[in-house]
Amino acid sequence: MDYPDRFDVIVIGGGHAGTEAALASARMGCQTLLLTHNIETLGQMSCNPAIGGIGKSHLVKEIDALGGAMGLATDLGGIQFRMLNARKGPAVRATRAQADRVRYKAAIRGMLENQPNLTLFQQAAGDLIVDGDSVRGVVTETGIRFLGETVVLCTGTFLGGVIHIGLDQSRGGRAGDPSSNALAERLRALPFRVDRLKTGTPPRLDAKSVDFSVLEEQPGDSPTPVMSFLGRREMHPRQVSCHIAHTNAQTHELILANLDRSPMYSGVIEGVGPRYCPSIEDKVHRFADKASHQVFIEPEGLDTHELYPNGISTSLPFDVQLQVVRSIQGLENAHITRPGYAIEYDFFDPRDLKHSLETKFIHNLFFAGQINGTTGYEEAGAQGLLAGLNAARRAQGLDAWYPHRDQAYLGVMVDDLITLGTREPYRMFTSRAEYRLLLREDNADLRLTESGRELGLVDDVRWAAFSARREAIERESARLKASWVQPGTPAAEAVAAKTGKALAREYSLMDLLKRPELGYPDVAGLVGEPVDDESVAEQVQIQAKYQGYIDRQQEEIDRLKRHEATPLPADLDYAKVEGLSHEIRQKLSETRPETLAQASRISGVTPAAVSILLIHLKKRR
Ligand code: FAD
Repeated sequence: MDYPDRFDVIVIGGGHAGTEAALASARMGCQTLLLTHNIETLGQMSCNPAIGGIGKSHLVKEIDALGGAMGLATDLGGIQFRMLNARKGPAVRATRAQADRVRYKAAIRGMLENQPNLTLFQQAAGDLIVDGDSVRGVVTETGIRFLGETVVLCTGTFLGGVIHIGLDQSRGGRAGDPSSNALAERLRALPFRVDRLKTGTPPRLDAKSVDFSVLEEQPGDSPTPVMSFLGRREMHPRQVSCHIAHTNAQTHELILANLDRSPMYSGVIEGVGPRYCPSIEDKVHRFADKASHQVFIEPEGLDTHELYPNGISTSLPFDVQLQVVRSIQGLENAHITRPGYAIEYDFFDPRDLKHSLETKFIHNLFFAGQINGTTGYEEAGAQGLLAGLNAARRAQGLDAWYPHRDQAYLGVMVDDLITLGTREPYRMFTSRAEYRLLLREDNADLRLTESGRELGLVDDVRWAAFSARREAIERESARLKASWVQPGTPAAEAVAAKTGKALAREYSLMDLLKRPELGYPDVAGLVGEPVDDESVAEQVQIQAKYQGYIDRQQEEIDRLKRHEATPLPADLDYAKVEGLSHEIRQKLSETRPETLAQASRISGVTPAAVSILLIHLKKRR
């Protein structure tokens, strides 16, 4: 049957990408359908119950700055918060939260159910309605046809999913959920490049069977960090500690002795796994000289005894998993509540996407999340938000919007994916961003919330909070620039006591703050009243200390902007561009970059080749 209502945007899949996509589109005023296998699993964390971490928290804060759900859900569900790299520079500092699975999921579901313009429906999508080269809607596996202007596909690890425990295999999208096979076959018939990837998860443990007295305790930070720009510590549930255990020689021997029973080593799994989140068999095999690996024993929630032993993801058979776990000090009597497993699934070559995450071959069809070759909730959520907002803009007859590499990690990720593709699950790192100093987690709102407001993603509450913060930062910076310390005054003596040097002339508080030995608390109260909002004080300090570097990065960005504004025609025949090597022609034809700047980022495309393209474009005009 045809469902009577027509939608502007249909989102398939209620994971991290799908929920952000659906919320973004609905916030922008589009009638949105979120079609998912099971309403009970909306926002479910398939693997580790944690959000954020290095590179990833930057994405969460960007989602948040654009009005998304992940940051607030983390504040509502987080049971341990830490600031990683706290002693390093602000560019690489990263907030990480251990989340209570149930509370996190409930927070996401609450936001979805209360979102105007959003309709939830529980069914598996089995087919896409494609008319010529445009998508027109979706058909569920029971034959209900939903018509829509645009479709966003966010099916995660479910397409053609195969679960491996040892040499046993079964079909599944993740443990306990069915795989999407009809849809996978349908998509394979469309002109996309498809390949296989794999990822894995550790066995879960019963806390009642663990001896915590011999494990190292790792409490959260105090004062407790928050994830969302609207987050407050009072939102957090009760906070708990994680613990650290270690593998040992016996653990490693057991793993090596059983490698032939691992589907990855016996060649049963063909998909490539995440390099930066390797299985324990990978770690033991690849880093044979390491006598021990850390295992973080993380609580799965406040109302459960289940634990997540982060660091021993595995697809070894269950009997080996049990021996491996029990070889670890503190886990000698551990009971496994759920076996670990690996999953292999279809992903699509992201080079077949535009910056908006619309596919190049089927109009109005967008892909987001793990199906684009990424791994991680944060990577999925950020793509979902971008695809959802662009699907909404398409339905509203507006041009695509996406952030550039100098504006957001989201811009870096999407540009990396669609320009370079990926052969292994792609995860975010701060090292992927060339303008790290500009793209800090602390200023994600200053970078993006104004755009979010213009796009219709940011509501009045967030806008008011953001505007107040931005004004407070500007006001305090102006005050520091206009407040002077004269030599010979008590304020100057306080500076000399801290720095060991007397002031030879008058300095503004802002000049003093730029000195490495002095921080905001040292200078702000020397003249006038400091602000008591710690996030405002932090921002003023970071901007003061790094202004020189930030200005230099900005100059470089301005230079490159010219290439960013030079489009490469979609029908450009690279074979006819004289002077390009065969290899470069092939790479450009495969990727079909949208701009000259994007072409320059393809590995192997030299500055000389960029000049040749520029000349060719001038000749074409
Ligand atoms: P998912 O969270 O997978 O959500 C997909 C959603 O789509 C589900 O709700 C599903 O029910 C729905 N769906 C699928 N097909 C259909 C259909 N045909 N019709 C309707 N609904 C459909 N990430 C890490 O960062 N580190 C790890 O170590 C890690 N290990 C993992 C281990 C395992 C076993 C798994 C399964 C995942 C792991 N991940 C890991 C990945 C992480 O779970 C994903 O990156 C993230 O969940 C992707 O989000 P997503 O929204 O793209 O898809």
